[in-house]
Amino acid sequence: MRLLVVEDEKDLNRILVKKLTSAGYSVDSCLDGSEAWDLLEYTSYDGVILDIMLPGLDGLTILRKMRSVSIAAPVLLLTARDTVPDRVKGLDTGANDYLVKPFSFDELMARIRAMTRPAFGMVDNRLQVDDLIMDCSSHKVERAGKEIILSAREYAILEYLMRNKGLVLSREKIENHVWNFDYEGGTNVVDVYIRYLRKKIDVDHEKKLIHTVRGRGYVLRDQ
Ligand code: CA
Repeated sequence: MRLLVVEDEKDLNRILVKKLTSAGYSVDSCLDGSEAWDLLEYTSYDGVILDIMLPGLDGLTILRKMRSVSIAAPVLLLTARDTVPDRVKGLDTGANDYLVKPFSFDELMARIRAMTRPAFGMVDNRLQVDDLIMDCSSHKVERAGKEIILSAREYAILEYLMRNKGLVLSREKIENHVWNFDYEGGTNVVDVYIRYLRKKIDVDHEKKLIHTVRGRGYVLRDQ
């Protein structure tokens, strides 16, 4: 999943990006509200971690602009101002959740998992397609009861396919969701990773779950 972190405290921004990246998210980040708006206008994010007090545009203005043009990405507000009116205003403006600084990273991770569930029709942290099961909090993947060890990138691609089960995803779409702006890869990088995933997920099973749709991309489905 691709996330945007908007936080002008440099150290906190850096730590957030590091923690989220090591948790398997693809992360873009910026320190300024105007830059955040540029990114939001042209990129489809699965979630946004948005500080309220920012140079350029403040967090609530960004949030209002997002919702006014129907950018529906879930937003977690970060605020140092632990006041009830701020929280109410944030939630009424269209935030999905908020955290008051300082916060624990475990809680942040849990809140990101919770706020990104509804878009994919999830009621808990588990994704399942046939006998393939992914636990998005422990990052454990198993097929037919046998654990499968995946690299961070393989996991991210499989998660994206599972969240969109039954939908054909183009190589470009997969690349945009799994890699951030820092990445400049070859055009066939997605094909390479799909090949790795097939080896781990499908090769030992008669029923294949990853399918190629010629000229369009890939789909994960159970029939
Ligand atoms: Ca700030």
